[in-house]
Amino acid sequence: MIKKQGKGVSRKEFIKKSLLGTAALSGLTAACASGTGEKGPNIQTKKKYRWTLLTTWPPNFPVVGEGANLFAKWVQEMSDGQMEIKVYGGGELVPAFECFDAVSSGTADMAHGASYYWTGKAPSAAFFCAVPFGMNAQQMNAWMYSGGGLELWREVYAQFNLTCFPSGNTGVQMAGWFNKEINTIDDFKGLKMRIPGLGGKVVDEAGGSALSTPGAEIYTNLERGVIDATEWIGPYHDYKMGFHQIAKYYYAPGWHEPGPVLELMINKSKFENLPLNLQAIIEACAYRFNLWSLSEFETQNSVYLKKIQEEADVSVRKLSDDTLKSLYSITQQVISDLTASDPSSKKVYTSFSAFQKQVTDWSEWSEKAYYDVFNKL
Ligand code: CA
Repeated sequence: MIKKQGKGVSRKEFIKKSLLGTAALSGLTAACASGTGEKGPNIQTKKKYRWTLLTTWPPNFPVVGEGANLFAKWVQEMSDGQMEIKVYGGGELVPAFECFDAVSSGTADMAHGASYYWTGKAPSAAFFCAVPFGMNAQQMNAWMYSGGGLELWREVYAQFNLTCFPSGNTGVQMAGWFNKEINTIDDFKGLKMRIPGLGGKVVDEAGGSALSTPGAEIYTNLERGVIDATEWIGPYHDYKMGFHQIAKYYYAPGWHEPGPVLELMINKSKFENLPLNLQAIIEACAYRFNLWSLSEFETQNSVYLKKIQEEADVSVRKLSDDTLKSLYSITQQVISDLTASDPSSKKVYTSFSAFQKQVTDWSEWSEKAYYDVFNKL
């Protein structure tokens, strides 16, 4: 079994704090002392605010959970103590996947998670997090901040009395861990794979069987052959889960999650009733969280990919061009079905896809042209 890893956290400890906790919602009201809504600038009076930040991650989860703790610290420092935020891991106050409702109803003030968890509430929410063969982190940031993406996201969330800020990005993920070779699209036939979201729908359409297994159950399921494959995040988090000890092949790239945006969602009424200085501080700290987390993912993933390559008996390889092309055409059909059935998805994807084409055309002459040259040096 796996012993202590990383920052002194064993795999067992790491995954036992499941994404799906069971703490009762009833405990939240007492624990959450919220701001009570004075309008407009209020710096003079220095009314103090004590807010609650729920997260969909286990407590202190590497990068994103740690980032939520840092976010709270930054807000407190920048506001000189005017706003204090207490952070809770998934399941500590409410189950992870009830964060949306808790913040929407005002039971909690804010939450950190990923918008594609909420597609059951709003199918178009998927486009603000990760789309198979969608945009990378740099391009998602450009769409959000400068290309109209964030306005569309807030329009969708406003129906739930929520507002939101991008606050984190994993960068390009890995395609996942497999116990059989994937040489062609036909190798997905009969494949039981843990892969949530739109990527999972693509695997289903390719003849596989996609499951949305909670994080805590993946290792055991893969080890026992309940599943043949799983995606998770990238080398850093995957290593901590121990997948390199039980899977034979580690494939790139994460075609299904090329630049997932993580979210800070806030109860809209409460946010709008904050003094303007605190609104500005939250916005600034969300930007900081966004940049900090992408930098952490990029750094740690590069370190841990090397560890996996050097320490583990795993073949690290890339999916073939033909396999990726087939996954791409299936993706187009899956998205076409979604946009045909949901007007909001159609509106959001129209913006998303136009922006992706625009920046991809530019990247031919910028990022790609640079990589093409650099790789030959
Ligand atoms: Ca993933």
